[in-house]
Amino acid sequence: MATIIDGKAVAAKVRSEVAEGVRQFVQRHGRAPGLSVVLAGDDQASAVYVRNKEKAAAEVGINGRVHRLSAQVSEAELLATVRNLNADDAVDGILVQLPLPGDLRSEVVLDAIDPRKDVDGFHPENVGALWTGKPGLVPCTPRGCMRLLAETGASLAGARAVVLGRSNIVGKPMAALLLAQHATVTLAHSRTRELPALCREADVLIAAVGRSQLVTAEFVKPGAVVIDVGMNRDDAGKLCGDVDFASVSAIAGAITPVPGGVGPMTIAFLLENTLSAANARKG
Ligand code: NAP
Repeated sequence: MATIIDGKAVAAKVRSEVAEGVRQFVQRHGRAPGLSVVLAGDDQASAVYVRNKEKAAAEVGINGRVHRLSAQVSEAELLATVRNLNADDAVDGILVQLPLPGDLRSEVVLDAIDPRKDVDGFHPENVGALWTGKPGLVPCTPRGCMRLLAETGASLAGARAVVLGRSNIVGKPMAALLLAQHATVTLAHSRTRELPALCREADVLIAAVGRSQLVTAEFVKPGAVVIDVGMNRDDAGKLCGDVDFASVSAIAGAITPVPGGVGPMTIAFLLENTLSAANARKG
């Protein structure tokens, strides 16, 4: 039976480390790090995510502000909001909540964020920094996964890692981080052939697909570490991951549950990225 990786407990540890870092930042600079979240439109799920981010920021002493814009906001107005935040010295981190409503182009809006304030790590400058091993802001969910892997004590150097999913938000940055730790990485996706056999070679398997129960026991090498990023709803509306927890936990060495695995880490690393951005801006 696999060790269950307790994402809630690890995230609590990260948040308390951030709270301590925030206290030191306030002592040195006389103000709290600032995180601005831009929320356009009235998507219910986005509203809940943004409220959670606001609450989490307040709990560690970060000055979180939400800029609510209507669903009819023009791209020019949204870009003007981002530019104002870029110019505001009290704002260290900017996050534009996705998806954007209507025809607003997320890549245009995300590219307008000052890379030094890009706490989601989606700006091309930060993406380039990640792949070339330079300092920069790294997407929160993959950072959270790396911390969970570190908690298992798994040795990544020389290990075979398979990342299922090649999105810019999770799969690709995850692959870059594993590679930087000297894992031998395979990025798999919807066109990959013989997926179960490929995944069975992995010492570390990251599932970031968005298909509930896709990863069954036949995908998993005995003793492998399995990190389930998926956040899906089953037929009954219950939150579930990409991994069939019941069958996989019987053979994996360690596994994250859903909920209570990767989810809490994402918010914890948003706070960490905000503190890092604040410290980096202050030199
Ligand atoms: P995405 O942009 O939809 O990407 C999904 C990836 O999975 C794509 O690369 C796709 O391949 C691949 N894929 C789809 N069906 C597949 C299949 N049957 N076999 C193999 N690969 C397949 O999703 P995402 O934004 O990366 O998110 C992935 C999941 O993680 C979602 O459930 C999302 O809700 C969750 N998530 C959770 C957190 C968290 O905090 N826990 C954060 C972000 C995302 P192609 O590229 O070929 O289409």
